[in-house]
Amino acid sequence: MDSHKTITKPNTVMAPPTYAAAFRCIGTDCEDTCCGDWDIPIDKNIYNKYQQFPREKLGSLVSQFVLISVPDQPDPLHARIYRGSSGFCPFFGADSLCNIHKEYGPQFLSATCSIYPRSFSYVAGTLEGSLSLSCPEAARNILLVPRFMQIEGDLFSGNFRTDNVLHLASSRKDSCHKPHNFFLTIRTLLIDMARDRSRPLWHRLLLIGSLCESLDNITTAEDKEAFSVVLRKYRQIVGYQISQPELVNLPSLPRLKLEVVFRLTDALVRDNSGKRFRDIFWAFVEGIASPDRSTPQNDMERFLQAEEKYHRPFFEKFPFILENYLVNYMFQNLFPYGREGSPRFIPRSLFGEYIQMATQFAWVNTLLIGVAGHYKEGFAEEHVVQTIQSFTRAVEHYPDVLQSIDESMRSLELNNLRGMAIMLKV
Ligand code: SF4
Repeated sequence: MDSHKTITKPNTVMAPPTYAAAFRCIGTDCEDTCCGDWDIPIDKNIYNKYQQFPREKLGSLVSQFVLISVPDQPDPLHARIYRGSSGFCPFFGADSLCNIHKEYGPQFLSATCSIYPRSFSYVAGTLEGSLSLSCPEAARNILLVPRFMQIEGDLFSGNFRTDNVLHLASSRKDSCHKPHNFFLTIRTLLIDMARDRSRPLWHRLLLIGSLCESLDNITTAEDKEAFSVVLRKYRQIVGYQISQPELVNLPSLPRLKLEVVFRLTDALVRDNSGKRFRDIFWAFVEGIASPDRSTPQNDMERFLQAEEKYHRPFFEKFPFILENYLVNYMFQNLFPYGREGSPRFIPRSLFGEYIQMATQFAWVNTLLIGVAGHYKEGFAEEHVVQTIQSFTRAVEHYPDVLQSIDESMRSLELNNLRGMAIMLKV
């Protein structure tokens, strides 16, 4: 893996991302599986096809596990494949391969199974593809490849379905103005800001928040000039170490940040978060808790030491890893507008999308500090991949978890730039 210490002025050339199409599942070599822990939604067309399976060729499993649980759902959520008592998909074979795929071919897979871990969106009339980091191989492809955005693939190869595509969220009366013609300019600027190594990552994220807040204040379609003025102002900052006391002097309260992360993680671990994430949680706890007679003060000292001695040197050596996390998040979620078209869509303002992204980033980065403290000098890429992958898997697929992030930040009054400074700074 390359080491990138030099500060370079970002200069993003934005072609629509197609790297998702280059992804290849590693099947039985995978350390996790996407065929457990969740029930798979299936559309009406696939449901009807499954009803034709003869009993001896998976039909008996269909009658037991493929069910319409809630009547009158929209066609894409018509029915679900429910997990067996093992916690795995009933079609998951002893050889770790999918029996529907083996027996009937890829055209019989549900959209979720065919597409995962890819994620497709239409932006400005063009199909784009990104990856979910909840798959370990996808996480490696994104996090450990310095210029992953340059990987190209054919989104129209026919190797996966492309009929389950979301699109840019629109302006709403109760929310903010989201003019689609500005989206690509805004996203290019945000990606350059995320990769701008002239300032630390927490500072870049606060700047991104301040940009989103400024854009949220522009409310009418007549304000085209106002959008251009704000975007020009932030574009001039990228790559230059301009003093910004209003952001730099925001408070750092690591004790409060740790409390929030424990509170959020505790709720996740109590629910069905998966063994890999629970293992990471315990590594995090062991990385910051004193072995005996631990007091909160000891924990705080060990947390700060873990950041300074193990986490910071590692990410100084490989700065692209966390930048890549953010850039893929921006593509996948059409940040900061959001992705519309799914019944599970949660409308948010631009700043609301920012709070969601920055909180998830702060949360997983705090876990990484504890994990670094656990592995000490042995802290390595594989631990980063497991932390980010298992965290993403426990969070991203569950709208109630995403909503609880919004609600927690709101109830703690951290849903503002001051709150994000507390969560992002060490
Ligand atoms: S999690 Fe990713 S690599 Fe593993 S089986 Fe699923 S798609 Fe393949």
